[in-house]
Amino acid sequence: MTVTSSASSVLGGLDTVREWQEELYRDLHRHPELSHQERRTAGKVAERLGKAGFDVHQFVGGTGVVGVLGNGDGPTVLLRADMDALPVREATGLAYASTATATDSRGDEVPVAHACGHDVHVACLLGATTLLAEAPGQWSGTVVALFQPAEETGDGARGMVDDGLADLIPAPDVALAQHVLPAPAGQLGTRAGPTLSAADSMRITLHGHGGHGSMPHATVDPVVLAAMIVIRLQTVISRETPPGETAVLTVGSIQAGTASNVIPDTAVLQLNLRCYSEQTRRRILDAIRRIVIAECDASACPQEPEFELFGRFPLTNNDPAATDRVARAFADVFGERSQPMGPQTASEDFSDIPSALGVPYTYWGLGGVDPDAYHRAEAAGRINQDVPVNHSPKFAPVIQPTLDAGTEALVVAALAWLAP
Ligand code: ZN
Ligand code: ZN
Repeated sequence: MTVTSSASSVLGGLDTVREWQEELYRDLHRHPELSHQERRTAGKVAERLGKAGFDVHQFVGGTGVVGVLGNGDGPTVLLRADMDALPVREATGLAYASTATATDSRGDEVPVAHACGHDVHVACLLGATTLLAEAPGQWSGTVVALFQPAEETGDGARGMVDDGLADLIPAPDVALAQHVLPAPAGQLGTRAGPTLSAADSMRITLHGHGGHGSMPHATVDPVVLAAMIVIRLQTVISRETPPGETAVLTVGSIQAGTASNVIPDTAVLQLNLRCYSEQTRRRILDAIRRIVIAECDASACPQEPEFELFGRFPLTNNDPAATDRVARAFADVFGERSQPMGPQTASEDFSDIPSALGVPYTYWGLGGVDPDAYHRAEAAGRINQDVPVNHSPKFAPVIQPTLDAGTEALVVAALAWLAP
């Protein structure tokens, strides 16, 4: 048997899955849940995995769910989907659009929508696991289906690892994941090496010495200090980063003071960093600290600045051998529908799981846009204007062929290891 023949047998069951899968997708879309609150979604996942014959572990790292299905000797393949939605007010106009609201981690009531398409990922993985469970004669080994909370906050994958994931599952040989993207539905994109950027957010608190606006000589003005730092930080990319290397450093927030004639005690900067190598990341984070500490010193601050890192996402650095194996299986089964993909500036925490388990991984893109609408926008040179991207209130993957393609991709990629 080859991957192609096993895949065509397993995927022969797609017709029996499609109806409940589409219904489940609309249901998840209508009932999105914020990061760390994915209780309803996790319940649906656990029920469906149990029905398919998986051993199910719930409440891993909060709301995470892991299903394990052993089927004789062979490799262990981990397939991952994320489950959380975003604090976005959906504006798609779909019949199954979300009108949900929830209380976020700060206690504010916010609208909630699956504006990143994680409902697609959940529906596809449940479909793929069901198909594999129903065709045990076509593969051998173990499937680990992992449903992760809180991808959007960057801490869901790590939460599952820290909660003892490694003790719940057999050691995987490979970890696989996908993300729906603003590309024509039915298309798949693979890439070896750095694929999604590493991201860090940092909050910097600067301590000056406040006083009357008319007597600056008796103060250490944190507003001027913050302004100096913002300008000086521009040199981290322009003067310290090699021209061929991609990195972005943005100061997105600067807050200080309450009145025109009061010099405040403190100023707070918030910045965001994206890059494609751990080495660059460490170098830039060190440069930021060096510059901020030196500027505080130059201003004679009475107290050291404080640095707080948050919203941290690891680099997604696809293993070349695993990517090649998936890309060849995709080419055999999907032909032209599978293409090489460029690096994406978005970030993901998926790789925290394979990195913690010490296993290779690959992560591919799945198109979700109505192909006719995409090609019309492309012909008009209006892709940026007319094709809503992930996190947009108008992000609305077409149900088909997106769900079919995402389900098929997971099955084919898993069989690249599990087919006899
Ligand atoms: Zn997202
Ligand atoms: Zn996402």
